[in-house]
Amino acid sequence: MSEQSTDRIAFIGLGTMGSRMSRRLVEAGFEVIGFDPVEAARADLVAAGGRAAATPTEAITGADYVILMLPSSLVVESVLDDAALLDALKPGIAVIDMSSSEPESTRKLSGALTERKLTLVDAPVSGGVRGAETGTLTIMAGGPDEAITAVRPILAPLGTVRHVGGTGAGHAVKAINNLLAATNLLAAAEGVAAGRRFGVDPSVIIETINTASGRSAATQLKFPQNILPATYDSGFALALMLKDMRIATDLARSVGAPATLGEQAVELWSRAAADLDPAADQTDIARWVDRPRNS
Ligand code: NAD
Repeated sequence: MSEQSTDRIAFIGLGTMGSRMSRRLVEAGFEVIGFDPVEAARADLVAAGGRAAATPTEAITGADYVILMLPSSLVVESVLDDAALLDALKPGIAVIDMSSSEPESTRKLSGALTERKLTLVDAPVSGGVRGAETGTLTIMAGGPDEAITAVRPILAPLGTVRHVGGTGAGHAVKAINNLLAATNLLAAAEGVAAGRRFGVDPSVIIETINTASGRSAATQLKFPQNILPATYDSGFALALMLKDMRIATDLARSVGAPATLGEQAVELWSRAAADLDPAADQTDIARWVDRPRNS
């Protein structure tokens, strides 16, 4: 790639997060060509100043970087399990999987890409819709030093890169983060439900806990922004959170680490997912916890 040319980024997966992240990359001056099966998502990228491709292969052809922001490892595997697509990638470039994927799957895919002299960097994010919009995501990167150095310029407009280890380490830390976030949220929801039923105003409970030792992102962000106003609109699906929790407990099991509390949390979130609408937001867990008991 020449010094004068604008780096071209292929962006696959233009959903809640991908739409905002791809827009930031356009605003940072990159040429962004995106693909998503949803037509409205492609149209949003075009409206933001990017270009839309009709297939993933069209998007990645000629790209200097490829970013994936897809729901799960299953979808990432389905996209990368395409010889025509892999053949169309520029030699030597890095594919950056920013989805919250499974570390073991990432390691397998990395092996397959390495055979083709390509690199897979895992770079999942935390910070939600607001972090994606404002470029303040925490990016948990896994991969070799030189690959992380090579992708830093395009990750910079999206947030702060933390290089946490080798291939798959980013996806491992992300899953562990979300297991903690989900467990904290469940615990906070149970605490607020108990206090409310005892007669204390939930906003007073949250304001007080936020100046005390029980606070967490659940009490500092999710309760004030999405649960107390009863909007349940954090923009992160409950089903995706449960997927991440299972990745973390599977990881713990695979390395023989204890996950007793995590598995209890998975059990409760699974029951919530079965009771609630498939499109439920993660913050719906709080109203599920505080539902009338005989339902
Ligand atoms: P989303 O469901 O809103 O977006 C996923 C997009 O992928 C959709 O637009 C979908 O049409 C598209 N897609 C599905 N199959 C595809 C394919 N084969 N090729 C191209 N595109 C395809 O999900 P999201 O909330 O944007 O999350 C994306 C990833 O980021 C997930 O792994 C999630 O766990 C993670 N994440 C989400 C948040 C959040 O707050 N929403 C925060 C951090 C991480």
